[in-house]
Amino acid sequence: MSKKSERLGRLLGKIELPIDAPDAVPEGTLFELGMLLVLRRELSATRAKAGLAKLKETFEDWNEARVSQVQELARCLVPAGSEIPTAAGRYFPAACALKEYMQEIFQKTHGLDLETLRESEIEASRLVPQFTTLGNSLGSVLLWGASDGALPVTTAITRVLDRLGLVSRTSSITKLRASVEPLVAPGDGLRVAMGFGLVADAWCDQRKPVCWECSLVDDCAHGKKVRIEWKKQQERLAAQAARDEARRLAAEERERVRLEKEAERERKQAEAKAQRVERAEQRRREQLERKQAAAKKKAAAAKKAAAKKAAARKKSAAKKKAPAKKKAPAKKKTPAKKKTAKKKAGGKKAVAKKKAGTKKATVKKKSGARKAAAKGKAAGKKATGSGSRKAARRR
Ligand code: SF4
Repeated sequence: MSKKSERLGRLLGKIELPIDAPDAVPEGTLFELGMLLVLRRELSATRAKAGLAKLKETFEDWNEARVSQVQELARCLVPAGSEIPTAAGRYFPAACALKEYMQEIFQKTHGLDLETLRESEIEASRLVPQFTTLGNSLGSVLLWGASDGALPVTTAITRVLDRLGLVSRTSSITKLRASVEPLVAPGDGLRVAMGFGLVADAWCDQRKPVCWECSLVDDCAHGKKVRIEWKKQQERLAAQAARDEARRLAAEERERVRLEKEAERERKQAEAKAQRVERAEQRRREQLERKQAAAKKKAAAAKKAAAKKAAARKKSAAKKKAPAKKKAPAKKKTPAKKKTAKKKAGGKKAVAKKKAGTKKATVKKKSGARKAAAKGKAAGKKATGSGSRKAARRR
């Protein structure tokens, strides 16, 4: 046994297969083998076989099963004697997977017959890996069944073996088989195909392999490089994420400060506004108080004037009434006499003044008349003089 063969056996031991590799090619068509493999992924080998038998009984052909409801398929998978409605729920995922498989085969082959896979090994190894519901792992079983137990080889399996450094990659299926077969122990061909097919399906993608998750990464040179790159990328991403987080926090802090400042500004504005309002209110109150005080003062003055008027009226009314009552008192006579004496004295004074005035006027008139007469004489003399002189000249 070569080193590569040993290594292949060791790597195969690290791969956990979802279903055991069958010992012999099962009876039935390749399409039914595919159905059985899909069911096996969800159910036990016995339940899958029993379910497939029940489906065969229930439906006239597989196309009828394909177009039927998932619930109807699930009912066929329920074991005999079980409560169908409650148990059918448990078999719903298996029924869904089965319907998906039938639908995919129909869409990719325009029928539900895979017997053509037996005709060309090359065509089969190109077509089967395209059935995503089976993948390279379960598809290997289909290829194995189509080739009557020959080692199934696909390009995906060869890619994995190439990356692991076990074979060189080539597009020729015959050459691939020729390079892989010497490494595989007798009777281990299907397990090898299923195991490395599973690695291809789960991790070893053609463009973006997820080597850091692959169970074979510690034995794979290519995988180690990818894992180192991935770790570096993770570190870069973590650093970037940290920078982004720091930026986000800084932006948050800036925003918080801005909001605080804005709130402070708004608070001050509100405070100033409140103060303005308070001052205006104060002015209004003071104005109102002044008005009220003025009105009070006015009212008090009016009241005082009214009281004064009332007092005056009372007094005058009292005065009017008083003479009638005080006719007799002798004391009152004295003022009357005084008044009369005053009046008389006044009358005398007035008469004297009048007389004096009259005298003065007469004197003035007389002196005026004298003056006028003197002026008239003087004027007459002048006129006479000038007239006589004029007349003398004329003569
Ligand atoms: S480690 Fe990567 S390259 Fe190697 S087999 Fe796994 S997935 Fe493929």
